[in-house]
Amino acid sequence: MAKYQSTKTFHDLPCAHRQWRHPGHCRFIHGYSRSFTFWFECHELTDQQFVVDFGDLKDLRAWLEHMFDHTMLINSDDPERATFEALHARGVCDLRILPNCGMEGTSKYVHAYADRLLREKTRGRAWVVRVETRENAKNSASYEDLVSLEDDASGAVDHGTSNGRGHS
Ligand SMILES: [Zn+2]
Repeated sequence: MAKYQSTKTFHDLPCAHRQWRHPGHCRFIHGYSRSFTFWFECHELTDQQFVVDFGDLKDLRAWLEHMFDHTMLINSDDPERATFEALHARGVCDLRILPNCGMEGTSKYVHAYADRLLREKTRGRAWVVRVETRENAKNSASYEDLVSLEDDASGAVDHGTSNGRGHS
């Protein structure tokens, strides 16, 4: 079935993170101005002929700012988690704990949130295919949920039930 796509980028959210497992300098706290690009998709446009009305993305923007604007990101299994939580409690940093706060892990985390939000807002009409998290002009990583490319959005796609073998 034909699909439409659109993209939206939110630029320059300054935050710090560390990768405690990294043997090199990435285990030290360092920061970037992160940017997030979203790929939206749908089969049916809005009445105004949009995949997503960008005016409807205020909640997404607010959540991104909550998570990534002047925050300190660590992984949930960071052995110094208690140290960071103590700093947060003392008002030294604004801590956010992710499963993995690297560009790849962040993309997956943001995808899950944004996809759920958009499906709710559009009653399943539109969804998020892909999220790219960029830490600077040189480096980025992205996460793409291939299931979203084909499935649901109001269950419009019928994969058939005749032989139970799934996708061809
Ligand atoms: Zn690094």
